[in-house]
Parts: sequence; C-alpha cells; structure tokens
Amino acid sequence: MNFHPYFKMQTIVEKLRYFIRWFLIDTLEPEIALAKCKELNSQIPPLYLLIILNAVAAAYTYRDLAPAYLTIGTLTPILAFTALRLISWVRSRHIELTPQQAIRKLRQTAVLAGVIAALYVSWSFALKSYGGITEQSHVAIVITTTVFGCVFCLMHLPQAAILVMLIVTAPYLVFFLSKNQEVYAAIALNLFLVSLVILKVLFNSYNAFVNLIKSRTELATKHQETERLNRENERLSHTDFLTDLPNRRYFFKKIGKHLDTVKDSREPFTVGVIDLDHFKQINDTYGHKTGDQLLVAVASRIQNLDLPDLEICRLGGDEFGLLFLGAPHTAASVAQTICDRLQRPYQISEMSITIGASCGLAKFPEAGETTHELFDRSDYALYNSKTTVRGSVTVYSADHEAKIRSDRAIESALQRADVYEQFQVHLQPIVAVPDRTITGFEALARWTSPELGQISPDVFIQVAERTGQIQRLTVQLFAMAVDQISALPNNLRLSFNLSAHDISSPETVGRLLKIIKNHHIDPARITFEITETSVIDSYEAAETCLNKLRDAGCRLALDDFGTGYSSLGYLHKLPIDCVKIDRSFIANLDDPISGGVVTSVLNLCRTMQMACVVEGVENLSQLDALEELHCPFVQGYLFCPPMPFDEISESLARSDAIAGLPLASNDKTEHRHRAVV
Ligand code: C2E
Ligand code: CA
Ligand code: CA
Repeated sequence: MNFHPYFKMQTIVEKLRYFIRWFLIDTLEPEIALAKCKELNSQIPPLYLLIILNAVAAAYTYRDLAPAYLTIGTLTPILAFTALRLISWVRSRHIELTPQQAIRKLRQTAVLAGVIAALYVSWSFALKSYGGITEQSHVAIVITTTVFGCVFCLMHLPQAAILVMLIVTAPYLVFFLSKNQEVYAAIALNLFLVSLVILKVLFNSYNAFVNLIKSRTELATKHQETERLNRENERLSHTDFLTDLPNRRYFFKKIGKHLDTVKDSREPFTVGVIDLDHFKQINDTYGHKTGDQLLVAVASRIQNLDLPDLEICRLGGDEFGLLFLGAPHTAASVAQTICDRLQRPYQISEMSITIGASCGLAKFPEAGETTHELFDRSDYALYNSKTTVRGSVTVYSADHEAKIRSDRAIESALQRADVYEQFQVHLQPIVAVPDRTITGFEALARWTSPELGQISPDVFIQVAERTGQIQRLTVQLFAMAVDQISALPNNLRLSFNLSAHDISSPETVGRLLKIIKNHHIDPARITFEITETSVIDSYEAAETCLNKLRDAGCRLALDDFGTGYSSLGYLHKLPIDCVKIDRSFIANLDDPISGGVVTSVLNLCRTMQMACVVEGVENLSQLDALEELHCPFVQGYLFCPPMPFDEISESLARSDAIAGLPLASNDKTEHRHRAVV
C-alpha cells in the first residue's frame, strides 16, 4: 500500500500517528475532501442499491429454511435503514458543501459503512446455520461479491473501504479456517489474496485520483494567478503611472464602448477635455518635480470629487479627459464645479500654488457620432475657453460648427492665396506725445480674398498659425513692409508683429534678417512686436531667436502688455526695448484698476529705461490723461487709423505730415527710443 507522505515519515511512531490521523480523515486537504464527496455522490447510491438487492436475494434463498423473524423481521429494519441512507445521498447530491462539511460527511460515511457492514455480516452469519451447502455457498458468494462491489464503490474513501473489507472478510476468514477442511482453507486463502489484490488496486486508483485532484487544483491556482496578472496588466495598461488616474487609452476605449451601448437608444452623454492654465509656467518656474507633485495633487482632488456619473482620466501633460453620463443639461455646471475646485490653491512643498483649469465639452449626438469627433469638438470648445475666458467651460455649439466651416474656407483660400496680390500692409503711425510727432509705424496686414472678401487679421493670422502657413506669410508681409519703410524718410521706424511660430523658428528669423540686409536698411529702424503668450509656448527656442534679432541690432517690443499671465517676469527675462500697453486698459482709464495698471507700467518702463507705447487712444480725454502720466508714445484712431502705404507717401509728399502730424526729427526719435522716456 502506498499512503503517499506517510511512508516518507521517519519513525514508526510518527508513521503510526500519521496513519491514525489519516484513518480519522484528519489530514485531508479541503479541495480533495470536496472532490471525494462529489465522486461519492454518484457511487454511494448504487452501492446501497447493490446491498439491498443482494440482501433481498439472500433472504429469498432462505425464505423456507430460516425463520421469518430472521429473513423478514431482522432484514426489514436493516433494509429500511439502508434505503433511508440511499435516499439521503440522492437528495443531498446537488448541495454545495464547505470543506468542513465535506470532511464531516466523509467521516460519517466511513462510520456508517462500518456499522452497515457489521449489521449485514451478523445477519448473514445468523442465516448460515439454517441452509444446506448450496444456500451457504450462495450467502458466501453474495457476501464476497457485495464486499468487493462495496470496496470499489468506496474507492474514493479508502478508510471506509478498508473498514468494510476488515469487518466482512475477517469473520469469514475465521469461519472458513475454523472448518478445518482443505476446501474451506482454499476458499479462505483465495478470499485473503483477492482482498489484498483489491486493496492494492484500490490504493493505486485512489492515489491517482488524489494526484489528479491536486494537479487540477494546482492548475486552477495557476490559472487564477494568470488571470489575476492579466487583470493587473490590463489595469496598469489603463492607468496613468504618475497620477493613478485612468489614462488616455482607457478614455478612448471607454467612449468607444459607451458609443456601442447607446448606438440604438441614442441616449445623450457628454465628453470633455480639461486643461490646466499656465501649468507650463509652473513647470518652468519651479521645476518638473513640483510640476509632477502638482499634477498628483490635481489628480487626488479629481479622485475626491465624488460627483455621480462622472469619470475623469489623464490624457497626458496637464490635460484631462472627462466622460459624463448624467443629464446633459447639467454637464456644464458639473464641469464648472470641477474647474472651480481645481482652481483652489494647492500646498506643494510648503508653497501655495494656484492654477487655473478650463474645459471644453461636446455632447453626443449633436456634436459628433464617433469617439474622435466628440474628442476633437470638445478640444475645439476647450480652445475657445482658453482664448476667451480662461477658467471657464465652453460647450461645443452650432456657432462653433459654423466657425469651423468658415475657418476651413479661410484655410483653403489662404493656402491658394498669392500674398503679393491679395495682401496689403497698412501702416499706423506711432506718435510721440509731448510734441505730437510721428516716430514710426506699426505694420498691420490686410487681406482681401477674391472669394471671401475682407478678412480680419485677427482671423487669418490665427488660421495661418494653426495650419502652419504663418512663416511664409510673415516673411512675405515683412518683405512688403520693409519695402515700404525703406521708401520713407530714414528717421521713421517700422514695428512688425511676429507670431509664436515665427519666434521659435531660427529659419524664419534668418529670413527676416536677410530681408533687412538685402534692403540695406538699418536694423535699428525695425522693432519686432511679440506677445508674452507667444513666448511661453516654447521659451527656450524663443529666447534664442529673440537674442539673434537683438544681436543683429533690431529692437523688441512686448505687445498687448497686461493681458497675459506673468508680464513682469518676462520683462526681466527677455531682451525687451519697449512695452506696448494693451488698448483694453485705455478704453477703461477711469476704472481704478486699469488706470492703476497704466500708471505702474509707465513708471516701471521709466525705471527700467524702456520705451512705452499706449495703444488704442481714441479720444482727447484719454490723451490728456496719458499726458499727465508722462506717457511717451501713443497709437490710436485719435491720430490716425492704419493707412495704405500710398496714402501715407502721398500725404508726406504733399505736406510733410500725416493726418496733420509732422515727422519726428532724427535726433528726437533716436533719443526717445534709447533713453529714459
Ligand atoms: P495688434 O498688434 O495689437 O495691433 C493693433 C490693433 O489695434 C490693430 O488691429 C489696429 O488696427 C487696432 N487699433 C489701432 N488703433 C486703434 C484704436 O484706437 N482703437 C481700436 N479699437 N483699435 C485700434 P488689426 O489691424 O485688426 O490687427 C489685429 C491684430 O492682428 C494685431 O493686433 C496683431 O496681433 C495681428 N496682426 C496684424 N497684422 C499682423 C501681421 O502682419 N503679423 C502678425 N503676426 N500679426 C498681425
Ligand atoms: Ca502689435
Ligand atoms: Ca497690441
């Protein structure tokens, strides 16, 4: 016999102790106990049936030989008990057991198997004394076949099988041997040997069964582990490693899945993009580590939002995707709540950092039918928030759709446009305040498209920037502007607007300088106007290009000053010669905040020895107020709107003045632009 770990034990005592524990079903592993019960469920009922039939057959043989109390009287309760057990097994075969219950049931089965075997053996011995040799042989055959049948049915519970075999075969061996006849001795020997062989076969099968269950369990455990790892991999591939939020891949998958779900019902939902305002500056100013900590803090605030029907993912950088399955009319207010909460100050490494958050939303199905349509439209709406009111939420609408269409028309017209034919450069005088003389002009582009008519520079410059046509446009417009200024007296300067793409492209800067060189014009007559937002996007590249322009002798002006984010910081960082105060401040000079900004910027420029131009002066009261503040230069409709070059040169030829304003003398211009104003 091979009782698996039992034989590996060291001492006899240990082996015995283990055998007793094994026999009492104390060492059984839970999954094996459950498997045994399952097997026995299908084997015990036929076992009981076999016993009942064989017992009835034996009783029938003895019906006329043995007294009725023995054949019917004794057998009936035993059969009833056996039948009850049979019913109990059949009824409980589908009940799910816990491992403890299974072990208890196995023990109970082993004990009952012993009891039932003892009852039947006793009954068979009682019958024996009544029959002749034929009947006795019948009983012996019944007993041996039954016991071997039982042993096989109990193969999965060897404890019970051994017990039954011992209880049945031992008395019969003793009985046969006690007969002292060769035939009986041969039967005894035969019974003994067959019992041994059957036990051996039984244990072989039992061990195979146990091994099978074990390897099946191991396989199941491995399978579970593989599944767990797969799930973990899946989770990781959908998680942003910095913030632990779901990532971009998850976001797009989720929208795709949701679109599939609402394909038929067309149930509306909302997709959104949230972008942090000025995150780049924080990264540049405090370093990437602080930037990362800030993103983690933002993510943790997002995780604690506790808003229903909402899922937010990190798309990358400072951009977050939003999927809102709640009522669409509440989407904007939910998004605004998120932006407002994200705008509350963060405590990072003992610093208090505040950051803005803008959002764009697109609703299914109005805004788009596919993941990419919805995402692109929400991104467009976000762009709108960013360029109009930062920190706000924009819902993609029919107006945006119309704007996209018209942008597309402009885009294609611009692509086909011959700049020298369709574009013009208008010049607007820059006026020195104390003596009302013209020191130079700002060049402002004008486009009249044959198909679309006049298009504002605010519109076509943006389209050109977005479609990568700005560099070509800038170079050609600049060539036209330099052509014009070189035809004017050389004490007049030219201010020319550059966009973000221009000042981060060394190639464009090289071409601009080449134009100056080819026209043999003094680079000091050229001022390039840049805005701080154009610098922020790629500060390092911009700084290199601006230094190149500065080194060539050109001047730089910071345009639209006061509308950006950290204007003062850039005044120090960049090689600026002049500041242009945005016209929005002049329109509200009476307002204490706007008035205060103008006053402090004028003072600041004076301290930093920079020139300062106030834009958008439209009336005399504004001019008077600026004069009182010792504003050195102004520009605005009050003196002159931007004018075509022909009108300017005609006016100069006619009266040596433009709009009644004389030109500044050479010395004055030089002095004002260089020194303290
Ligand atoms: P900007 O550089 O701030 O130009 C000043 C704008 O203010 C011009 O608008 C000008 O016509 C307008 N303006 C001048 N005086 C007054 C005034 O008294 N009141 C009011 N309300 N407005 C006044 P414009 O020509 O429509 O140009 C708009 C913007 O387009 C410019 O703003 C500039 O950023 C951009 N832009 C124009 N031409 C070019 C160009 O050749 N290249 C680039 N990159 N941008 C250009
Ligand atoms: Ca400008
Ligand atoms: Ca401006």
